[in-house]
Amino acid sequence: MTEALAISVTKAERSKLQDINLENIPFGKYFTDHMLEADYENGEWKSVEIKPYQPLLLEPSLAALHYGQAIFEGIKAYKDEEGNAFIFRPVDNFKRFNKSAERMNMPVVPEEIFLEGMRQLIDLDRSWIPAKNEHSLYIRPFMFSSDAMLGVRPSETYKFIIILSPTGPYYAQPMKILVEESYTRAAPGGVGFSKNAGNYGGSMLAASQARKAGYDQVLWTDAFEHKWLQEVGMMNVFFMIDGVAVTPSLEEGTILEGVTRASVMTGLKEMGIKVEERKISIDEVVEAYKAGKVKEVFGTGTAAVIAPIRELNYKGFAMEFDPATFTVSTNVKKWLSDIREGRVADNHDWMWKV
Ligand code: PMP
Repeated sequence: MTEALAISVTKAERSKLQDINLENIPFGKYFTDHMLEADYENGEWKSVEIKPYQPLLLEPSLAALHYGQAIFEGIKAYKDEEGNAFIFRPVDNFKRFNKSAERMNMPVVPEEIFLEGMRQLIDLDRSWIPAKNEHSLYIRPFMFSSDAMLGVRPSETYKFIIILSPTGPYYAQPMKILVEESYTRAAPGGVGFSKNAGNYGGSMLAASQARKAGYDQVLWTDAFEHKWLQEVGMMNVFFMIDGVAVTPSLEEGTILEGVTRASVMTGLKEMGIKVEERKISIDEVVEAYKAGKVKEVFGTGTAAVIAPIRELNYKGFAMEFDPATFTVSTNVKKWLSDIREGRVADNHDWMWKV
């Protein structure tokens, strides 16, 4: 590590932990005692600080607020039964973060700040990692352009921050999903594969309209024919068809490469289930459903891990599924939780010790 990247640490005078009940904690509402903040200026990262969690003072002309150079990640840390702290696959999120940065014409964040900074921050706030089943510490690294200047061009200054939020179990109620035919999340050549803030802002209207119509989320389709399946809300999607797990391929750059998606594919293969990453259309799903071949449909993502789908509605045709019969997704969820919460050996080197 160069001298300029030394991380300075200022500790909070008093922990807020004693004021918070970690039982039934809502997602993303409480933050730990500390945060990491780093500034990019004159072509380099400098002033990396871990300090008490606090508000930011920003100019109204802040570039990110106007032109949207803003990216983020979502990662989880766990404690095993002996109280050791681990982060799940942070290197994969680190790589994805820098892919997002490149696509958004932002500087990459070096490993010493993203990974080593995260490790030191979590080490300091380790008492915030809930030690119970299905509880974890959600890690939110993010970066935004910070020039105070209303010119449409890549910013010259950026801020990278990591904040931490304890989370309880995510009771994934089986979802009712509408196949989206008007709005588009991403198109080839666009920014779908990157985890930039605008992708989420742009998806909210479709989700709200689906909610008004009685659904939990939408199943995104491609931009041109609205038939090639993409993602379900903010999760990757899997179909169990005729005993094979099918998930949309990433080639067109319209889908976020989920770390849970990759982990689930590994788990399924280890369980002897054939996995296909390929183009899959809604017509294929409807055909297979009519032939009684679609046994499970589920989303995967860091927040919910696996979210079963109980209904998929396409042009008024409701395909119904009974999540109580979903054996494959239930088994793979248990397999993954056992690794993450330290109940079985981590043979994949996924758990990164803090
Ligand atoms: N797709 C989108 C659009 C997402 O926001 C997420 C959540 N990060 C995912 C898929 C799932 O990715 P991961 O498994 O890495 O959380």
